[in-house]
Amino acid sequence: MSETTETTYKPTSPNSKLDFASVWEYDPAPESTDHVEVKEKYELFIDGKFVKPSKGRYFSTTNPATGKKLTEFAEATQKDIDKAVKSARKAFEGEWSELAPKTRGKYLFRIARMLQERAREFAVLESMDGGKPIRESRDVDIPLVAAHFFYYAGWADKLEYAFPGKTPEPIGVCGQIIPWNFPLLMLAWKIAPALACGNTVVLKPAETTSLTAMKFAELVKDAGVPDGVINIVTGAGQTGAEIVNHKDIDKIAFTGSTRVGKIIQQSLAGTDKRYSLELGGKGAMIIFEDAPIDQAVEGIINAIFFNQGHVCCAGSRLIVQESVADKVVQKLKDRMQTLVVGDPLDKNTDVGAINSENQFNTVNKYLEIGINEGADIYQCDCELPADGYFIRPTLLTNVSQSNRVVQEEIFGPVLTIQTFRTADEAITKANNTPYGLANGVWTDKGSKIFKIGSKLRSGVVWANTYNKFDPTSPFGGYKESGVGREGGLQGLSAYVNLK
Ligand code: NAP
Ligand code: MG
Repeated sequence: MSETTETTYKPTSPNSKLDFASVWEYDPAPESTDHVEVKEKYELFIDGKFVKPSKGRYFSTTNPATGKKLTEFAEATQKDIDKAVKSARKAFEGEWSELAPKTRGKYLFRIARMLQERAREFAVLESMDGGKPIRESRDVDIPLVAAHFFYYAGWADKLEYAFPGKTPEPIGVCGQIIPWNFPLLMLAWKIAPALACGNTVVLKPAETTSLTAMKFAELVKDAGVPDGVINIVTGAGQTGAEIVNHKDIDKIAFTGSTRVGKIIQQSLAGTDKRYSLELGGKGAMIIFEDAPIDQAVEGIINAIFFNQGHVCCAGSRLIVQESVADKVVQKLKDRMQTLVVGDPLDKNTDVGAINSENQFNTVNKYLEIGINEGADIYQCDCELPADGYFIRPTLLTNVSQSNRVVQEEIFGPVLTIQTFRTADEAITKANNTPYGLANGVWTDKGSKIFKIGSKLRSGVVWANTYNKFDPTSPFGGYKESGVGREGGLQGLSAYVNLK
């Protein structure tokens, strides 16, 4: 017999039985940035032109993986918002409304195709400005962006079939405000259905991730979309508030935190503006003992760690049946040790940079809160880059339902773990937060999926998978996770008045 039949790894890591470091070392494989252009500063995109902000003020955005300044954006104030709304109104009442629906669709198809052509450029910029791994922006974000434009392009001349027996009419000028976690995708969720239904828009991207929105403005110009149909104004929260409170806007579509969503709801109370709100979440993943455990562990990793937990519907709570809890947690820990955390532009990276210094501080604050509440903490042993904002993927065990880390949205790579004995207990725990955006169930039994799924109070319930998106599927929340739906046929209703 040969003496070299030994195949087990020697344990060296304090947290794990396996020496993963020696198995999972990859050479760096950074995506090139030679093909992208980042200007020194970006102006506002109003009425088809790039214009300077009325007060001449600019703010900078950083690359969160390095902490270094990337570029500057113009700060839109009330005067600029007014200009953008006027241009959107003129386009709505003029050229845009006179176009045949089929022609509106053609513009959307053209945008979709141009996004595909420039996909690599958009993906690199999204990762540079927001910190998400290139694998995510290249394989998930940008393809979904194009898919949304294709999907809604198809509806533009078929709206009467979407609403049988009714006459759909556009609402008018839509004010749209989006967050930083899926910058270009949230833009697509907002702009594509609005335009397909014949509306015009004034959109504000998030302060820390406006770069791809401004690149999109350049694409809109190249696509020859009529002036004023799409206006993109950059700025901070105050700029968003100016949009919300502008008298000549007919509808507000907001995606962001529940805190700001409530402020917006209060501002709109008593006005005749329509609104839709996509807010926070605290998704639970329920794992039954009969689930395919390895598949479930991979699903959990994807649900909470791959995008640094910067996903509104992230599976940030694991609720696992007691009989398999130890096994699942051990497998999870082993898998976590193999995650590559670091440069977002490296093709091997699983977990990129936390989006901003603010968010970095928020996540760390929650880790401290969790520990003070009595949680046990487990983190990957991986080395973190010296610069930028990085947090190790983290498990919090020994938590209870009333703990803040179980109730509140952390929006980082942090997973809390609870156990259950009966299905009813799992459902009660999953439903016991103020949110209701998405949940997941992992089991071998189809009947269990339907039974549990129907009792989970959330807009989405995934079964034996998580975080899967498709432009044809509606998305939205129960409870404090929002009002209205985006995506699919239901997403059209948010942009039409029905007669
Ligand atoms: P946020 O602080 O609520 O900001 C969202 C957007 O609103 C940003 O553009 C922000 O500008 C702007 N804003 C801030 N204050 C405002 C105000 N008073 N009036 C009008 N606009 C205002 O949320 P975030 O931290 O960027 O994003 C993370 C949140 O979004 C999470 O809670 C996440 O769950 C949620 N989210 C939900 C969905 C969904 O579909 N349900 C999808 C993605 C994200 P600044 O960038 O300048 O602050
Ligand atoms: Mg940035």
